[in-house]
Amino acid sequence: MSRGNLDPETEKAYHNRLEEALKAGYDILATGGSSIDAVVKAINIMEDEPMFNAGRGGVFTNDGRVELDSSIMDGKTLKAGAVAGVTTIKNPINAAHAVITKSRHVMLAGVGAETFAAAQGLEIVDPSYFRTDLRWQQLLRARERDAIELDHDGPSGMLDHRFMEDLKDPFMNDVKYGTVGAVALDKHGNIAAGTSTGGLTNKRYGRIGDAPIIGAGTYANNEAVAVSATGIGEMFIRTAAAFQIYARMRFGGETMTNAIQNTLNEIMAIDGYGGVIAIDKNGNYTAGVTPGSGMYRGVIGPDGKPRTAIFADETF
Ligand code: ASP
Repeated sequence: MSRGNLDPETEKAYHNRLEEALKAGYDILATGGSSIDAVVKAINIMEDEPMFNAGRGGVFTNDGRVELDSSIMDGKTLKAGAVAGVTTIKNPINAAHAVITKSRHVMLAGVGAETFAAAQGLEIVDPSYFRTDLRWQQLLRARERDAIELDHDGPSGMLDHRFMEDLKDPFMNDVKYGTVGAVALDKHGNIAAGTSTGGLTNKRYGRIGDAPIIGAGTYANNEAVAVSATGIGEMFIRTAAAFQIYARMRFGGETMTNAIQNTLNEIMAIDGYGGVIAIDKNGNYTAGVTPGSGMYRGVIGPDGKPRTAIFADETF
């Protein structure tokens, strides 16, 4: 994202909401709660906030639906849960968590996931709950581009060529992201990671991104690191990004910073971009983004004071 396209009021609103999410997670951790519960709580705040591309305010598919993906992983037990392509679950991260606690599975998709969530008593909403005007405008913009390019383009490889064209459009770039994620370490020494998203604007054919895929968008293992990712999901899946960061640290002996940088390099080598947040069991944390990208991010430690940043060159 570029500085010029974010007005001070919106910038402030992002900082405020991030602080709220950090404090909500902190409250759980400060009272001895688990990292996984803190991750769920922090993500809930962002799912409920339309300015992020998760829960309410998720982006639209080509046929005008909001299809949400989410996953969560517990670094102590390696238990993981995910839901993909859901359209009626108010907080997909809660459903992903319920997959861990209430099912014997790891990933549930579509109608089945929605039936499961309803059976667990999770809040179910009409799909219209997720709609926002900004996201609708984005879809119209993306569809317009499709129309312009229809006569001379076509699918190229796994990723529809038209997605790549969207990515070059500054309007799309500045507003399309907003996938949310959280990583946490609790007093018991356990780490956890979670991710929730609407995916990519104008996605089609039931496209599922990296966010609900354990090892791509989310991974946590107490032995090394908890990771949550955002970016062009296809490249994060192809590089097994979150798992790759873990594996570089665990088996390759790389530092967290190097593991993230080397993984982002692999993503860039296949024309992907995005970023990750990560924490280890000693409380070391870092956020990494590919050059030119920005990422709304924040951290809260034992002092309970949230610190947030947006642009790539900001430290916090
Ligand atoms: N990674 C998400 C996806 O590809 C999108 C994002 O991070 O904004 O679905």
